[in-house]
Amino acid sequence: MSSSVLVVVEIRNGAPVRASLEALGVGRRIAGPPGSGTVTAVLLGSGSESSSTTVAERGVDKVLSVADPRFDAFHAVVWAAAIAAIAREIDAGTILVAGTSNGRELVGRLAARWEAAAVNGVADLSLAADGTLMAVRPVFSGRALQEVRVDQTRAVLGLRPNAFTAPEPSGSKASVEAHPTPDLGQLPALGVVSGFEPAQTGSGPDLSEALVVVSGGRGLRGPENFRLLEDLAGALGGAIGASRAVTDSGWKPASFQVGQTGRTVSPQLYIAVGISGAIQHVVGMISSRTIVAINSDPNAPIFKVADYGVVGDLFQIVPALTAEIRRVRGS
Ligand SMILES: Cc1cc2nc3c(=O)[nH]c(=O)nc-3n(C[C@H](O)[C@H](O)[C@H](O)COP(=O)(O)OP(=O)(O)OC[C@H]3O[C@@H](n4cnc5c(N)ncnc54)[C@H](O)[C@@H]3O)c2cc1C
Repeated sequence: MSSSVLVVVEIRNGAPVRASLEALGVGRRIAGPPGSGTVTAVLLGSGSESSSTTVAERGVDKVLSVADPRFDAFHAVVWAAAIAAIAREIDAGTILVAGTSNGRELVGRLAARWEAAAVNGVADLSLAADGTLMAVRPVFSGRALQEVRVDQTRAVLGLRPNAFTAPEPSGSKASVEAHPTPDLGQLPALGVVSGFEPAQTGSGPDLSEALVVVSGGRGLRGPENFRLLEDLAGALGGAIGASRAVTDSGWKPASFQVGQTGRTVSPQLYIAVGISGAIQHVVGMISSRTIVAINSDPNAPIFKVADYGVVGDLFQIVPALTAEIRRVRGS
């Protein structure tokens, strides 16, 4: 496999998404130190020029900016055509994609277009002694880890958000090149996205990207009690999530839902408050690094997946926890 790595950087709200920055660090690790393999970052869309500077400081060798507004609305078919063309041009062996909802869709399309292996949900990546890529990903709703040996000459890998550390900006800057729009070849008739309705979320960080998520379930008894979780999330700089019982009851919009039919999150810390731990919820949060559950029922299934469990009344525990965190943090 070529030691040239191409990292696709996704831009949201005018800045690279953090999961893409994490992918840059993985790219550097598998390509080897500067001078051995090369890491090229590619940014698509009209925001790519301004975001290129942030990317150029994160240990890559080169940044390609394709500032064509046709890429502003994500369309997997169009993106795959452009990225496959660039991958051929730089003779890449591996393409890394942040495992956002767009990224997960892109992986399969891109692998088909570029005739490569595809692995989504990668939570760890290393090189075997013979240089073969070894990917690890959670399977069976996170109950087992699968090790995938990537023995193809080309591979597209989707990386789980928050599973890797984003490199800090370094003193040196890679060169940024304006790249012309690649020949996209014959594309099928495409639907046109005429606009986006922003998802309703809390005031904290984006749920899919947050390092801390505090989620509430039916145990909260009503929408007004979510202020307890907002205080806790605020003290931790986290985002609010919810179980489906909550979104179905209209206590929170559907965009807050975590689980099989909601969002998949993998923060450093997930706090489940008044959530029973049904499998459909658990699949959306099982890959969180540390899981804390607060539930009055000692037999609640959530305790089977929790690293730390507090059996008790959330209405007493959550305010006490928030007060203690604020005291320790001096806020
Ligand atoms: C096809 C399908 C898809 C689904 N997709 C999803 C999904 O994406 N996400 C999702 O979440 N669910 C999903 N569900 C629903 C899922 O099966 C559960 O019904 C749901 O997760 C339950 O939500 P809950 O834990 O908030 O409520 P409950 O199961 O009612 O649990 C409430 C918990 O609160 C605890 N509690 C009550 N009072 C207190 C208190 N004072 N202090 C502390 N604890 C307290 C109780 O002990 C209980 O464990 C799906 C179901 C189906 C069939």
